[in-house]
Amino acid sequence: SSTAPYIGRFAPSPSGPLHMGSLVAAMASYLDAKVHRGTWLLRIEDLDYDRNVEGADMAILATLQRCGMTWDGEATWQSRRLALYQAALKRLQDAGLVYACGCSRKEIHDSVLQAGVPKGAAAVYPGTCRHGLAPGKAARALRLRVPEAPQAVYDFADRWHGPQRQDLAGEVGDFIVLRGDGYWAYQLAVVVDDGVQGITQVVRGADLLDSTPRQLYLHDVLGLPHPGFLHVPVVNNTSGEKLSKQTGALAFDTGTHAGELLASALLPAARFLGLDVRADDVEDFWRQTIPAWAQRLARLPECT
Ligand code: GLU
Repeated sequence: SSTAPYIGRFAPSPSGPLHMGSLVAAMASYLDAKVHRGTWLLRIEDLDYDRNVEGADMAILATLQRCGMTWDGEATWQSRRLALYQAALKRLQDAGLVYACGCSRKEIHDSVLQAGVPKGAAAVYPGTCRHGLAPGKAARALRLRVPEAPQAVYDFADRWHGPQRQDLAGEVGDFIVLRGDGYWAYQLAVVVDDGVQGITQVVRGADLLDSTPRQLYLHDVLGLPHPGFLHVPVVNNTSGEKLSKQTGALAFDTGTHAGELLASALLPAARFLGLDVRADDVEDFWRQTIPAWAQRLARLPECT
């Protein structure tokens, strides 16, 4: 184990109350910080204003507290940190890495189809506006240039899933940092905040595994050190879709009694993470899960 300070975080989007999927991510990041005697920060990612649900942020904080997951310092809200994202954009613009894009989603989709990309494959931005907007086209979003291969190939070792590789040029293309609706893109904001907050380990759901190379590239161009990554498996509903507010995941029943919280939320989440615990109360639960997480880490990566 290293002597460098560990700083982790949980970064929920306030698009609804905590559900089993987000609880699993919260629990893994909390346990990882505790096992490493580190700091655990809480950051509300509320930049997608169309998806924010009023009161969801406070509901998430209250649930975490009831579960016994207490964060260090003050919670932060991305909507209160806009100047940081603006400054980062300026830096990227000064480096000549940003351009205005006038393409609609449909135009990108159509040009990708024309290029013979199989239907359903992830749309790689074809670089239409890379050398300037076509006459008559209005700017919508700002995109960040990704390097040409081979510099575009990002390799990293995920602590859960093992070695990962993505070719940013071939699999993603130049990506959006400021959206057409004026909202800051998740990719930019998350990297700026992880950098400013000195996050050393990112622990979150595996739905973000394929965002990680974009974020590593942003860390590089902003001169920020790379954090480590651990992506926990995503909780699926019975029809095999990722549990999310979009697929109608219900908040777990937090009940009025700590016993219900244990039985309906904490124990199932721990079991999902492969932790074998049989606690009688919330305090006992954490007493058991922290060493259980250390043992779980010893069996990683799980290359499936
Ligand atoms: N806000 C993102 C979400 O709730 C998580 C971002 C992250 O952990 O990097 O899905």
